[in-house]
Amino acid sequence: MNKHLIELDGAEGGGQILRSALSLSMITGTALRIVNIRGRRSRSGLLRQHLTAVRTAVDICGAAVEGDELGSRSLTFRPGTIRGGDYRFAIGSAGSAVLVLQTLLPALLFADGPSSLAISGGTHNPLAPPADFIERSWLPLLRRMGAKVDFELLRHGFMPAGGGELLVRTTPGELQPLHLPEAGAVLSRSARALLAAIPGHVADRELEKVKRHQDWHAASAQVVRLPEDQGPGNALLLEVECEQLTLVFCAFGQSGVSAERVASQALHQADDWRRSGTSVEEHLADQLVLPMALAGGGSFTTPVASDHLLSNCAVIEAFLPVRIDCTAGQAAGQHIRITPT
Ligand code: AMP
Repeated sequence: MNKHLIELDGAEGGGQILRSALSLSMITGTALRIVNIRGRRSRSGLLRQHLTAVRTAVDICGAAVEGDELGSRSLTFRPGTIRGGDYRFAIGSAGSAVLVLQTLLPALLFADGPSSLAISGGTHNPLAPPADFIERSWLPLLRRMGAKVDFELLRHGFMPAGGGELLVRTTPGELQPLHLPEAGAVLSRSARALLAAIPGHVADRELEKVKRHQDWHAASAQVVRLPEDQGPGNALLLEVECEQLTLVFCAFGQSGVSAERVASQALHQADDWRRSGTSVEEHLADQLVLPMALAGGGSFTTPVASDHLLSNCAVIEAFLPVRIDCTAGQAAGQHIRITPT
């Protein structure tokens, strides 16, 4: 498995190709060269949050790196040994602290001792998993696979101000395969509208719209008023707790978009997942394959084979002795199966 150097073309995907490749390079001890980083994105190359992922990865494993500059489209990363310890990193913008966490956490599970990791930046960003998704959906599944991880959201950070902070404590240990053929019965539904320095009627209207939806009329609904200095920001989080896992759907308030429209965006995501009859929604799917591959096995069903899912599978197969099959199900959705080779 310890090949000399793995070369990847980042043109087909976003920052996830880079983040997964960094995690896997650290864990396998294999050098990485990645070209055309985020090649087809409107602002291609390394943005601040990607650069933070690179530099934090360098810090936790003593890597040698070339190309770690803002805007850089190619990077060479030669990892050293992953060291447990107390780490504190700042993104220095509202870039997603959660995505940096997802780069480092898998590696710290393979460190030589326990770690604490504090990351400041955005905790609730469009186009990234919100902190609640990590806490309620992704991490509980990692814990079921055997990961020893505590998570705390210390302070919320929204675009464009940032200023949020996450704290994670982890102890290394082996991961076990996880199979999720179905989500199981729905146990509860809850809706939370987060508000910081935004008028209260916004949250009331979002929750009102949610409660009018047939699936959600009996759901618990809560307005979470955050200190004004954590804003401005508004996120609507819909949570479906099932027997086997919890799904979290999220939409963000934006100027020029009505509160009702924000609620519809989150409801559509929840509807799409429910109608599909699959176990795992689209975003969770692309974020579960890496821990399952590290565990040497896993499976689930998901509504679509998204670009994120397919490009992440290709990166994982380049580094690990696993095969990831993605096949259309008979009824609906895609069946994902990860097996050792
Ligand atoms: P990239 O676009 O390559 O930087 O990757 C973005 C990552 O954020 C992917 O893993 C997406 O699945 C994830 N993501 C984007 N939006 C959400 C969301 N609303 N909930 C959970 N994860 C998300």
